[in-house]
Amino acid sequence: MDDSGNHAELILDQEVYCSHKSRGCRKVMALSELDTHVKACMYSLVPCPLKCGQAITIKSLPQHMASLCRRRIALCQYCEEEIAWETKEEHENSCPKRPVSCMYCHKHTIIQKELKFHLDNCPLKPTNCRLRPLGCKYMGNQLEVDEHESIWSTHMDIILKYILQNNNINGQQDKSKNRMADVVQIVKNLNSENSELTDRVNELCERVESLEATNKTLTEQLTKLETIEKADIASMRTLIEVLRTELENRNTKKLMANRSCLTTAT
Ligand SMILES: [Zn+2]
Ligand SMILES: [Zn+2]
Ligand SMILES: [Zn+2]
Ligand SMILES: [Zn+2]
Ligand SMILES: [Zn+2]
Repeated sequence: MDDSGNHAELILDQEVYCSHKSRGCRKVMALSELDTHVKACMYSLVPCPLKCGQAITIKSLPQHMASLCRRRIALCQYCEEEIAWETKEEHENSCPKRPVSCMYCHKHTIIQKELKFHLDNCPLKPTNCRLRPLGCKYMGNQLEVDEHESIWSTHMDIILKYILQNNNINGQQDKSKNRMADVVQIVKNLNSENSELTDRVNELCERVESLEATNKTLTEQLTKLETIEKADIASMRTLIEVLRTELENRNTKKLMANRSCLTTAT
């Protein structure tokens, strides 16, 4: 009787544990079944389909992919875009739909990508008076500046001062400066001075009327200047040139008036 065939059969019938016993498979089977079992064993390892680089048992793959894998799908809480879990924090810190607050009005409902537009247009953003290039130091939020700019009389002096300084910069003589200062005085005290002069010389009264007509033109020019949409220094300078010419004309007329006043008085 050949004994070797029986011997091999005995080995194949021998009961063995699954090769994945260490990972938890408790299956015991005949050695002859081992190969088939191991190929389908739930405790065998496969690479994670999300490509995190880990090898996972088939049994724990669903749990790994749903809640453990660093590459599992997560939702940004702001834009609700699907992102890898490992990039969630970084994405949310820079998400364009992340809510941020305005440093001026402290509104919290602004989203990151609209912040710049909001800051540029925030009604509480500190703004300069449009006559800053001419020397007005006023600063406030847009509403306050609108209110400030609507009070035109506060800017009359600033404009005249600017004209005078400009004269100096252009190297004009002190004489010219004094003459301009006289014009400023005339603008300020026009009514009282006029009545005084009118009492003394009738002819001068006519001159004063012509001065008032010029004053009206001047006021119209100033109103034009006031309605300029943005501070445009170039066009501001042009208007100031017009103003200066008007003022110089007035002065000339004033001198002439004074001269004829003296003539009449003598
Ligand atoms: Zn097994
Ligand atoms: Zn994974
Ligand atoms: Zn997002
Ligand atoms: Zn704001
Ligand atoms: Zn101002």
